[in-house]
Formats: sequence, C-alpha cells, structure tokens
Amino acid sequence: MGKPTGFKEFSREKVPYREPLVRIGDYGEIFTEPSVAHLQTQGARCMDCGVPFCQSGTGCPIDNLIPEWNHLVYEGRWREALDRLHATNNFPEFTGRACPAPCEGACVLGITNPPVTIKNIENAIIDRGFAEGWVAPCPPATRTGKRVSIIGSGPAGLAAAAQLNKAGHEVHVYERADRIGGLLMYGIPNMKLGKDVVERRVDLLRAEGVQFHTNANVGENIDAQKLYDQSDAVLLATGATKPRDLPIPGRELNGVHFAMEFLGKNTKSMLDSRHDDGAYISAEGKDVVVIGGGDTGTDCIGTSVRHGCKSMVNFELLPKPPVERAADNPWPQWPRILRSDYGHEEVVAKWGDDPRQYCILSKSFIDDGAGNVAGVRTVEVEWTKDDNGRWNMSEKAGTEKEWRAQLVLLAMGFLGPEHYVSDMLKIDYDDRSNYRAAHGEFSTTVPKLFAAGDCRRGQSLVVWAINEGRGAARAIDVFLMGSSSLPAPG
Ligand SMILES: Cc1cc2nc3c(=O)[nH]c(=O)nc-3n(C[C@H](O)[C@H](O)[C@H](O)COP(=O)(O)OP(=O)(O)OC[C@H]3O[C@@H](n4cnc5c(N)ncnc54)[C@H](O)[C@@H]3O)c2cc1C
Ligand code: SF4
Repeated sequence: MGKPTGFKEFSREKVPYREPLVRIGDYGEIFTEPSVAHLQTQGARCMDCGVPFCQSGTGCPIDNLIPEWNHLVYEGRWREALDRLHATNNFPEFTGRACPAPCEGACVLGITNPPVTIKNIENAIIDRGFAEGWVAPCPPATRTGKRVSIIGSGPAGLAAAAQLNKAGHEVHVYERADRIGGLLMYGIPNMKLGKDVVERRVDLLRAEGVQFHTNANVGENIDAQKLYDQSDAVLLATGATKPRDLPIPGRELNGVHFAMEFLGKNTKSMLDSRHDDGAYISAEGKDVVVIGGGDTGTDCIGTSVRHGCKSMVNFELLPKPPVERAADNPWPQWPRILRSDYGHEEVVAKWGDDPRQYCILSKSFIDDGAGNVAGVRTVEVEWTKDDNGRWNMSEKAGTEKEWRAQLVLLAMGFLGPEHYVSDMLKIDYDDRSNYRAAHGEFSTTVPKLFAAGDCRRGQSLVVWAINEGRGAARAIDVFLMGSSSLPAPG
C-alpha cells in the first residue's frame, strides 16, 4: 500500500491547472507539471483496500491496477508503475488528461474523505515514461497472416488496432478525416488533450506495424463490400456522430451551429495554419450562447473564450446539481454533483459569473432581419416527480426571456452512429439505433463483422471506448485463431 498512515496524514491536493486568465491566451494544454514529491505524497494516501472499488465495478472501466501503481509511485518505482499501467491501458496519456475519473468516485477513501488523485498519478506515470524514453515501439515477433480492417480511428479503433497488432495480425485502420484520432483529434480540444500527444501515440502504433489510411471514407470513396471481402475480420468503430438537433423556429438562421462543426473546424484550422486560413467559425467579438452541457458544452465555452467572445451563456435544461451527493446517489456510484470544469472557471475568471443557467428551455431563435441569428427566446422550466417516480417538465408562466447572441452552439449530445456503412454491410440495430452487438462478444449480426465503442454503446467516454476496443480485439483474435492470450477487460 502507499504509506500505512498516509490517508490520515495527507490531504487530497489536485495538480492545479494553469492560471485561467493566462491559459485563455493560448491553445496549450491547461495542465501544470506536478513535482515528484507532490505525486509521492498523493500516492501515499492510497489504502490498498482489500476490495479496491476504484479498479473495477463502478470504478475504472479498464480495470487499471490502481493500488499497485499508487504504491509504486509512492516508492519512486516509476518504471514498474508504467509497466503495470500499460498492462491494462493502451493510452494512459489520453485517459490521464481527459477521463472524468469514475475511479475517484468509487475510491473507498471517498466514503469519509476526498479520494486519492488517481487520474493525476496516472498521467504523471505515462508522461514520465515518455520523458525517460521508456515508451518505445514493440512490434510483434511473428505475424499470423490474417488481415483485420478497422473502420474509424477514435480510441475504440486505436485500442483494437494496438491489441490486434500485438497478436500478430495485419491491421489496417481506415479514417475518413485527414488526421487519425477520431474525437481525440477533432472533438476534444487541444487545451484538454494536445494533438502532439495524440500523434505521438499514432506514430508509435505505426512503427509497430499498424497501417493507417486517412481520407478513407468507407462507404464513400472506399468500397465497403470489397473491404469486407478482402478482410478476415472487420471492426466497425465509427463513433456516435449523429448530433441531436434543436428544431425550433429560426434553426436555419446563420450563426446557429452544431458544436462539433465549431470544434472540429477550430482544431483543423489551428493545426493546418494556426488559424491563418480563416477556415473556422469565429466567436470573436460575439455574444455566444451554448445550449447543452457536458464535455462538449464545456469545450465550446473554452474555445469561444480563446477566440475572444464578447459574452458567454450556457443553457442547461436540467436543475442545478447538488454540491454534495444526494441520498439516492451513494458511494460508490458516480457522484452526480455540481462540477466546475475548465471552461466554467475561465468564464468566472474573465467576467465574474458562472455561465451556466439552469432549467432553461429554448423556444425560438431571433432573426436580425438579414437571416442571421440575433438571440434566443427562452422560458424557465420546473421539474416535478409524478406518483410513479418519473420526472416531468413544465414551463413556468411569466419567465419568458430574450438573450442576445450572434453565435449559438448546439451541444445537446448525440443520437447514435451514422448508418451508411452499416446499411451497406446489412447489420441490425438496437432500439437506440446503435449497431447491435453484445458487450463482451462484440459480433454483429453479420459474420466476421464486429462493432465497438460509441457506435455500439452510444455516446460515452474515452475510457469506455478503450474498454470496448480491447474487448473487441480479443473477440476477433478468438474468432481468427480459436483462442487468444489478449486480456478481456470487464
Ligand atoms: C467535444 C467532445 C468532448 C469530449 N470530451 C471527452 C472527455 O473529456 N473525456 C472523455 O472521456 N470523453 C469525452 N468525449 C467522448 C469521447 O470522445 C468518445 O466517447 C470517444 O471518442 C468514442 O470513441 P470511438 O472510438 O467510439 O469513436 P470516435 O472517437 O467518435 O471515432 C470514430 C471515428 O470514426 C470515423 N468514421 C466514421 N465513419 C467512418 C467511415 N465510414 N469511414 C471511415 N471513418 C469513419 C470518424 O470520422 C471518427 O474519426 C467527448 C466527446 C466530444 C464530442
Ligand atoms: S482510466 Fe479513468 S477511470 Fe481508469 S484509472 Fe484512469 S482516470 Fe480512473
């Protein structure tokens, strides 16, 4: 365990982000570099519980061996910590930066005290591993002669590629975008996950033998049936890319955009030309309204602030969450509490107020008379529980309001995967329009065709995409070889 009395001696101290008013002046990562002493002290807080809830069940979806590496960090055995971390996680530099850390919500220390800073420690281990040159390409010694095609290069596709390549298969990853990474590249902004960090891992996979094909839109410029026929197995890892729309009057006005159009173009223009090409939607000098919360909403806020927006408001349909866990949300469940993410902090630092407005329903967009959006009309709502325990929403009379906005970003989640490739390959869907395939098996209703990640489970998290990619790789390996030595995450 860390230090037997560590949890009594030391309090939780997160690695701080950079100063908000400084970091909004650039697109660099928001993180600061922790000292070794800080990390060892935080690692010392781990109690090495007999049943470590952090590493399975409601905790880490990829069963990261958390107490083991907390202890190794406490003892300064960083190289061993890295090996234990890589045993379950192909990409700790992605989860260490972007994971919401369900492990910390399930940490046993969290019953009475603030939990161990697991995510910070994970990130520090992998960053140290790269800095020391310990992370090097490790191609397989032998090849099986089996060809696997993976459609989509997000974390699910990349985790599957890493594992299948390790098992000796010839792995081809097809990505319709011009860069590899899925939402790691063109969703999560640079501030939270540097694109050099994504490319560094892709380069490693390439050096290990994975073959990447960009601008390769399967079903458009790559024949889906031919790819299927040429492959011994195919994995669909196409993500849940269909955004939820807001079909209210004025939706067609200029200046109303889906969040992903805003975020994707911003990153591409920044990487292509540091924004010199102007090929992005600018928030500069505009009153911006972001409709919807979650990671996507926060990333729209952080990006708009960096553009130099004039004001920022964020509408939430749901009520403000409690500061502490509610009685019906006990440990070790994911705590449904009020969190302030980096974008919220930045708005507070710049303008003094939290941008989030709760229980707000958008009714229509206002036209400036020339086809551009000039604002949003809203009404407040209230939520009540009926006799069956179901929540019902009703509008509050007299609470109508108009908000000025020249840019509106829709960040209300995603409805599921697009269907053009899956229709061509004739697979079935579940009742939420995701590709039908059971978790653990990952096989679709079509022979030798598998599915993993957001396209199978619906919009989720990077760590779940890694779980699914690793699981699907094992299922494919068993399908191709009759057995597999690849691990199966829970
Ligand atoms: C803005 C935003 C911020 C987020 N922030 C976080 C966060 O901070 N932490 C977190 O854990 N999760 C976050 N998420 C969720 C997380 O990014 C996803 O759950 C995860 O990326 C899903 O991985 P995936 O591999 O299943 O799909 P994706 O990452 O969506 O990748 C799918 C890829 O498939 C490609 N593709 C689709 N169809 C085809 C085709 N026919 N041919 C070729 N390529 C195709 C797509 O272009 C895409 O690149 C965020 C999501 C968004 C939208
Ligand atoms: S991947 Fe996420 S859940 Fe797992 S240990 Fe890291 S931060 Fe925690």
